Amino acid sequence: MSLGTHKKDYTKGERIKIHQPDAHKADKFSPSNQIYVRAVEGLWTNVRRRMGWVAMLVFMLLPWIPWGDRQAVYFDLAQQKFHIFALTIWPQDLTLLAALLMIAAFGLFFVTTYLGRVWCGYTCPQTVWTFIFIWFEEKLEGSRNKRIKLDKMPWSFNKLWRKAAKHTAWLSFSLLTSMTFMSYFVPTTDIYYEVFTLQASGLIYFWVLFFMFATYGNAGWMREIMCIHMCPYARFQSAMFDKNTYIVGYDATRGESRGPRSRKADPKELGLGDCIDCDLCVQVCPTGIDIRNGLQYECINCGACIDACDTTMERMGYEKGLISYTTENKLEGKIERVARPKLIGYGLVMVAMVGVFLLAFDHIKPIRIDILRDRNQLYRENVDGLIENTFTLKILNKTEEQHTYTLSVAELDDYQWIGPKTVTVESGQVFTLPISIAIDPADLHRTVTDFNIEVTTKVDGEKVTVEQETRFFAP
Ligand code: SF4
Ligand code: SF4
Repeated sequence: MSLGTHKKDYTKGERIKIHQPDAHKADKFSPSNQIYVRAVEGLWTNVRRRMGWVAMLVFMLLPWIPWGDRQAVYFDLAQQKFHIFALTIWPQDLTLLAALLMIAAFGLFFVTTYLGRVWCGYTCPQTVWTFIFIWFEEKLEGSRNKRIKLDKMPWSFNKLWRKAAKHTAWLSFSLLTSMTFMSYFVPTTDIYYEVFTLQASGLIYFWVLFFMFATYGNAGWMREIMCIHMCPYARFQSAMFDKNTYIVGYDATRGESRGPRSRKADPKELGLGDCIDCDLCVQVCPTGIDIRNGLQYECINCGACIDACDTTMERMGYEKGLISYTTENKLEGKIERVARPKLIGYGLVMVAMVGVFLLAFDHIKPIRIDILRDRNQLYRENVDGLIENTFTLKILNKTEEQHTYTLSVAELDDYQWIGPKTVTVESGQVFTLPISIAIDPADLHRTVTDFNIEVTTKVDGEKVTVEQETRFFAP
């Protein structure tokens, strides 16, 4: 914990202990270096709170939405199928998954180049959960100054029950988070019933406890250490930033020289800028930095310091926006440019990947067919004197219902099909069918003939045909 001397908070007319900017940087891992985040209200805090609520509700409720006889969103690792409402992604549809990941990656690059680290500040689970944990802390241990005092005082009943309640709340919320996360992989109704009636497997208990303590550790204890020292995104974001990227910036031209003054005093007469050095922008910062020192990689663009400073400006009767979402060019008095090659490049790649995704999505078929040739024998002459090639067909039913499939051959004349021509396959099952195709040698004009095997069925009343090319070998 880094505390300085008593200073006057001129915006409130009260004496408070303040956080010394950058003092904690001496050793961020020291337990005595805890950042006591001060609660703040304002536009960006409200935006972040609402976005956090939306993200939390989506995360918590999605596993409870039914879709037919399964969950709407369910990642079935045992069957290697990802269900997302009507869409089922099989391992065979990896292009779709790869395109989705590329869209997400380039979407993130695009947003970061344009708006800086807003992902970190508003939607990253680390930030959302950290702010929820800080909320529990605030409710159970009190405001920032009360928490500082509580930590400094010797153990008493008051301290004990507050600490116990806080950690119980953190652990309970972590357990709920862990159970919710696991519900994406194990049916929701099963996991809650099995875990709480002690009927779950050891593996399930291991993962529930693992994610519970990971949440508790990350959002309760690690907090900004995750963002600053462990998150790779914080490291490579600088490659996406340019002078037109929106950052949280302090207008030093307007704010300096900083210093305390009476509300009635004219700062110009005192030779001061608009920053009254109240330190609120530092106290509300979840990563504990002083944005007045310029752009720092620790800044997650959460906007809390903007709200804090706007409150101070309002109380002092000054114009808001001493700290704001701005660009380096704007701070330097230069012209801002929205359209720039890097941003356009990321945007174009993202649009292209959306195109690839839609194309891949359009080509998803409810059937998959694989044809394996008999590797031991290219062809043989059968008892009727016909040339015969043997194949193994693997038909995968990717739908949620049982289907009957009709097999046929295209682009091959005067052939004999030896084997069943219709098969019934259960949902999600692979049917393996050995067949042979025989042709009179008089009708064969080439040693190798390309042709297609077709599989046809009806899905939701619509005829669906999937074909795959293979070869017929002759002497
Ligand atoms: S400097 Fe401001 S925007 Fe950046 S992390 Fe701290 S409070 Fe959030
Ligand atoms: S920048 Fe704003 S919030 Fe920060 S110390 Fe100055 S007046 Fe206070």
